[in-house]
Amino acid sequence: MEQLKEILKYNEKFVKERAYAPYQAGSRPVKKMTLVACMDCRLIELLPKALNIKNGDAIIIKSAGGMVERPYGSVMKSILVSLYELGSEAVYVIGHSGCGMHGLEADKMIRDMKNRGIGEETFAGLENDGIDVKEWLCGFQSVEAQVRKSVSIVKNHPLLPKGTPVYGLVIDPKTGELKPAG
Ligand SMILES: [Zn+2]
Repeated sequence: MEQLKEILKYNEKFVKERAYAPYQAGSRPVKKMTLVACMDCRLIELLPKALNIKNGDAIIIKSAGGMVERPYGSVMKSILVSLYELGSEAVYVIGHSGCGMHGLEADKMIRDMKNRGIGEETFAGLENDGIDVKEWLCGFQSVEAQVRKSVSIVKNHPLLPKGTPVYGLVIDPKTGELKPAG
């Protein structure tokens, strides 16, 4: 609650002082590009700065690991919306070194859930519903391989506009250096 109060107090001042002025932009990305990146907090400012992206330049879709896991999941849907409805023309999937999803053990997270009060019966119920929690929560073993896998899902999607370039990159969360995912 304390944090929310502080946010609202700061926000009132932000709007009153028109601090938003330098960030005003249209809703269609000027650079006609869509990025899929990790939610890692080190990338909040570093990622756009390292790519020379300013407010209004690009659509940035974020998730844990910047993974495109399913052809009909929310990340892929967002990519298609950006391409068909917002004027993007290229997709960049950007993983990063030192990602929390690298080597993420579903077993450990399930243990953490149980330690924080999620009961065995909940897991049993999910299993009955055909949900494989362990599979769903797992991370990846190689960021480059994961980026290539995501790129492949996007590139091979039957609804992707024909000729859309899809690139795979890995960013260093300290220096912002970009490298192709191979
Ligand atoms: Zn990450």
